[in-house]
Amino acid sequence: MKAIVATENREAKVIEKDLRELRSGEALLDMECCGVCHTDMHVKNADFGDVTGRVLGHEGIGVVKEVAEGVTSLKPGDRASVAWFFEGCGHCEYCVTGRETLCRSAKNSGYSVDGGMSEQCIVTADYAVKVPDNLSSAAASSITCAGVTTYKAIKVSNTQAGDWIIISGMGGLGNLALQYAKNVFNLKVIAVDINEAQLDFAKEMGADICINPLNEDLAKVAQEKVGGAHVAVVTAVGKAAFNAAVDAVRAGGTIVAVGLPVESMDLSIPRLVLDGIQVIGSLVGTRQDLKESFQFAAEGKVVPKFEMRSMEDINDIFTEMEEGKIKGRMVIDLKNT
Ligand SMILES: [Zn+2]
Ligand SMILES: [Zn+2]
Repeated sequence: MKAIVATENREAKVIEKDLRELRSGEALLDMECCGVCHTDMHVKNADFGDVTGRVLGHEGIGVVKEVAEGVTSLKPGDRASVAWFFEGCGHCEYCVTGRETLCRSAKNSGYSVDGGMSEQCIVTADYAVKVPDNLSSAAASSITCAGVTTYKAIKVSNTQAGDWIIISGMGGLGNLALQYAKNVFNLKVIAVDINEAQLDFAKEMGADICINPLNEDLAKVAQEKVGGAHVAVVTAVGKAAFNAAVDAVRAGGTIVAVGLPVESMDLSIPRLVLDGIQVIGSLVGTRQDLKESFQFAAEGKVVPKFEMRSMEDINDIFTEMEEGKIKGRMVIDLKNT
């Protein structure tokens, strides 16, 4: 089968690869598609360590072809996900308290185990989340990382309907965050991006206020217009966006960190203590979170914007990502390879 793997010179490459036999509890998926996430770029650049030869991808959707003995959660013909949270140990403090993505022995698709950018993929059946019938595989693909990550980020912020939320970074994650915020959580949204085209796109999708920090001071506008936001979800991949969020939330406000710049954010201790600011790091979502985020998309409340691409386009996609040219999600077609 064809698969996209990380190479030692920090590129991605399409190769021919053989699949091993299924083991107990596993399912074999005929892959339909897999979205390209910013994290895939970190992985192929060896930012988290060298993973030469690893199949990339953690926004995969496939159709179950075969299940091994002991599998009861999936059957042939079902569609299921290959998500960043590939599996947890199932019995640690995190796994048994609804925080399984923090499991210290968690495996991650396309990083510590082979991911979804291949014609076939082996998953641990109990950890692959079923896709509802009325959600297309390409749309479900975007939900598998970008969607669930932003859905969960808003969920952990404990906002109430009508609250103001800043969504910083309107790329692949931000445009889904905006839709979950507006259409699921009933929030008012301040969309932030340095790219005007992304802001136009945000406006089209219902953002209440759009701010380009190159022209306007986010904190000033947020404080003057709405008294500071209740929450800021930062999906941007630069430190500046995190620092701006600190100044743009109101007292008692919450900053949810989702993007992964390899730097520190500046939060003064008096601001933290005197204004009761909370900072939460949110990492993808549990199987239950993914199930919920799939369902909202299946109901049409969240419509991922994507473009289908071929496997051979992978390095071009990474370049476009670096240049900030991508609107919505690039999804690799694994059915017509
Ligand atoms: Zn991702
Ligand atoms: Zn665990």
